[in-house]
Amino acid sequence: MIKIGILNLQGAVSEHFDITKKALKNLKIESKVFNVRTSEEASRCDGIIISGGESTVIGKLLVETGIKNIIINQKIPIFGTCAGMVLLASQTDFEQPLLNIMDMTVKRNAFGRQKDSFEKEIEIFGEKYPGVFIRAPAVESIGANAQIISKLDNIIIGVKQDKNIALAFHPELTQDTRLHEHFIKEVL
Ligand code: GLN
Repeated sequence: MIKIGILNLQGAVSEHFDITKKALKNLKIESKVFNVRTSEEASRCDGIIISGGESTVIGKLLVETGIKNIIINQKIPIFGTCAGMVLLASQTDFEQPLLNIMDMTVKRNAFGRQKDSFEKEIEIFGEKYPGVFIRAPAVESIGANAQIISKLDNIIIGVKQDKNIALAFHPELTQDTRLHEHFIKEVL
């Protein structure tokens, strides 16, 4: 029985919940998906998904709830999209609490403001995906332990390190479950 937690402190959470359920169904894996609001809930997860939202707010709440400590101490694999990518970073261009579990420097709002949101086809592991970018971050540099998995016009938008995956865009806002399935397979 695999347990996937959807961090539910702030941000676009329900879409991740629904697409994760669909992905697990596709994979025919005995599983449970539940919202994570407390450190106790976090401690029961085999993997946690962190959605888009405001990374400053989510980061502060990760510390206050003690969930950050659980993630770090139990080495729980994280799949972070957009604000989730920011939180996985070791450094950003803004002073804010981070999980600091991936060796990368991230620039927030790298593609402009909300009105500059766009959709573009991107490629990961040789497969094409719809990329939905909303005030998306970009990765400025990575360290030796991190691996670039996607670029858009030479800008890094996807990174993997151990079982953690960080994406600048929002797969949960599409009908495409493959990237969630990919994370789940990492966690298995
Ligand atoms: N720019 C936001 C942040 O850094 C992320 C935007 C999003 O998640 N859609 O928190």
